[in-house]
Amino acid sequence: MSDVRATTLPADAVHITTNSDTEPFWQYAKEGKLVALQCGSCGHFRMPPTPFCPECQSTEKNWKELSGRGSVYSYAVIHGFPGIPDITLVGAVVSLEGADDARLVTNIVDVDPSEVQIGMELEVTFSPISDGWQLPVFRPAQG
Ligand SMILES: [Zn+2]
Repeated sequence: MSDVRATTLPADAVHITTNSDTEPFWQYAKEGKLVALQCGSCGHFRMPPTPFCPECQSTEKNWKELSGRGSVYSYAVIHGFPGIPDITLVGAVVSLEGADDARLVTNIVDVDPSEVQIGMELEVTFSPISDGWQLPVFRPAQG
């Protein structure tokens, strides 16, 4: 245990770029919804979103709204960020409930970094970032 809590970068430090394949993900996030791109032909999930399904080459897209729950697949504790020496971040790859093998690179927040473990149950929350977008991040699941 420690008194350090993992957080996210300040909103104005996070800028995203979108393209026609990724923008729906961010539009849903703005509404507080976590979605994953599913192939509209074969059902294969692919994150990050790509134009073509690697399984069947289809361009059909189905944006599936997820439960918002997930679990830690991998993570790293980061102490300090350029220009923000006192910040502690937990960068993580999170397995998304309801999206097979799809995973999201994100941050875990509201947690003592020493308590993060592979497999830890998480739930999504949204952190404001630049230009009115919202970044999906995860915190330990509440019960
Ligand atoms: Zn497919």
